[in-house]
Amino acid sequence: MSGLFKKKETAAQAADTQTQTPTPEAHEWLIPEEGRDQLQKVFAGLPGDVTIEVYTGGDPKNLFDDYARRFVADLALLAPRIKPAFHGLDSDMARKRGVTLSPTLLFNPEEYRIRFTGAPLGEEARAFIEAIFLVSARTSGLSQAAKTILAQLDGARSPRVFSSPGCPYCPAQCANAIKCAIERPDLVSAECVNADEFPDLSARYGVGSVPHTQFDESYKGIGLMPEERFVVELVALKDAERWLNEHAAKSGAHGVGTGQGAGQDAGVEVTETDLVVLGAGPAGLSAAIYAERSGLATVVLDKGIVGGQVTVTPVVENYPGFADIAGIKLVEVLSSHARQYATIRENENVDDIKLGRRIEVHTPRNVFLARAVLFATGAQWRKLDVPGEDRFYGKGVSYCASCDGFVYRGRKVAVVGGGNTALTDTLHLHNLGVEVTVIHRRDTFRAEKALQDSLTREGIPVIWNAVVEEVMGDTEVRGVRLRDTKTGETRDVPFDGVFVAIGHVPNSEQAADLGVDLEPDGSIKVDRHMRTNIPRVYAAGDVIGGVRQIVTAVGSGATAALSAFEDLQQPRWKKDKSA
Ligand SMILES: Cc1cc2nc3c(=O)[nH]c(=O)nc-3n(C[C@H](O)[C@H](O)[C@H](O)COP(=O)(O)OP(=O)(O)OC[C@H]3O[C@@H](n4cnc5c(N)ncnc54)[C@H](O)[C@@H]3O)c2cc1C
Repeated sequence: MSGLFKKKETAAQAADTQTQTPTPEAHEWLIPEEGRDQLQKVFAGLPGDVTIEVYTGGDPKNLFDDYARRFVADLALLAPRIKPAFHGLDSDMARKRGVTLSPTLLFNPEEYRIRFTGAPLGEEARAFIEAIFLVSARTSGLSQAAKTILAQLDGARSPRVFSSPGCPYCPAQCANAIKCAIERPDLVSAECVNADEFPDLSARYGVGSVPHTQFDESYKGIGLMPEERFVVELVALKDAERWLNEHAAKSGAHGVGTGQGAGQDAGVEVTETDLVVLGAGPAGLSAAIYAERSGLATVVLDKGIVGGQVTVTPVVENYPGFADIAGIKLVEVLSSHARQYATIRENENVDDIKLGRRIEVHTPRNVFLARAVLFATGAQWRKLDVPGEDRFYGKGVSYCASCDGFVYRGRKVAVVGGGNTALTDTLHLHNLGVEVTVIHRRDTFRAEKALQDSLTREGIPVIWNAVVEEVMGDTEVRGVRLRDTKTGETRDVPFDGVFVAIGHVPNSEQAADLGVDLEPDGSIKVDRHMRTNIPRVYAAGDVIGGVRQIVTAVGSGATAALSAFEDLQQPRWKKDKSA
């Protein structure tokens, strides 16, 4: 990240307080060449003009200001549709727009109220690029269900999404807010805040985990939400589940879909396909490539974002072909390969699956009629299951070090666990400048030796033979109560945060509801062809247990796709040929 900063006055910087389109001559690029080529191609399809106003303060040494100016200047040179304007924080325009923080970036401010507070670094750059597309198209792209709920809004809303450059879930939550601002420009303004850059603002709203969405002064939501859920919470200013129950009780009818199980009445599209893959992690992406190449029309649905657990893996060092690669980069490579073949739909929460000659897969936006379905739903973090854990989630308890680590710079945290994830998280936090202690219930680690050696080299303390009995605090985490597994003694140790990394549990609930057999540990039971006990229902990846690695996930994903192909016997391409 810091390599991107160069303390040099640019043309854009010199031209403070005036609108100007940079010229390619003598332009010093910030975005690397490879990225520029990609952006130029995708920006070629921008349907409308996008004005981006950049507001920065007078300090030439402010690296965030410099980054923001140069980033937007680069984008404008890559896309004639992007019209930049650079203004000082003390300009009349800043006063007119109500801009007080530097850097601030506004999109088409005469039409919309969409604002980025802070430099769009790392993952935030993705949100920024998505904002360009949405504003350029001048259409929200919200589902019909979400639009129906948002149409009921009758008061002003200003959702503020706090994110961090290392959080892969944050861009999609920023996009939720931006889509609402485009759909209801009369009432909604959206702000994406780089929480890392504005610690005071983050502290004011008690940001302990990102994405953190402040819907109004008192109501907030933590984590990435399906867009229907986001819209319900924006309109109702309460938890979507609660609102739906109240709504259903009042009207006697079922509510509007929030990704939580209702709402097939509002503009749902029906799509016929051969295979629906649930989950766009490595297993699902690999299955999509193999299935489509076999001739099966395939749709991949993910309730969150593409990439699964790999999106939160700082570095992958054991995937053949890449000696070491950032998790997010590997996701890019895998997903762009899979997208060459199959349709991948993110933020698509499956409400219901009905078995039959055609298997029906329902989401709030779509019904897919498939000949086969594949569970590549992976695994989610295992919880400590102790008092205080849920209460302090987002207020000191976290499961994602790469997302939330920045909040704890210079503060004291515990990482609980002893496997690869725990030690990777520990080293990541240590590198960020967090004071980390590992708490492990045994006297040896399960993690790879290379990670253990790094921990020793860095002199990171470990509390051995200890389990967390309680997470304690007041408005936020203040410490943990530990029990010594050898002596049974308990003691309280002060911490500002607790990162839980004690393994994962398989996401097999929906499969179990269909009648799919599970193993005693909750993973889906499959044969060596990845077939479950139900015909035309398959499973692959972490959800089937065993060795939980990227390489095994992609292997089992491919096997499952080929089994589906074999079982369906009459693939589409054969029919097409004979037609
Ligand atoms: C911090 C960390 C570090 C790791 N490091 C490594 C490493 O260095 N090397 C390595 O090989 N492995 C590593 N792993 C493990 C590796 O990431 C997993 O084994 C791999 O991602 C499993 O792939 P998957 O596709 O089976 O599942 P996942 O990656 O878990 O993906 C499952 C996807 O399914 C989606 N989903 C879940 N339920 C539903 C539903 N009902 N409908 C639609 N979508 C759904 C999820 O949103 C998710 O995107 C690491 C894991 C973590 C957490």
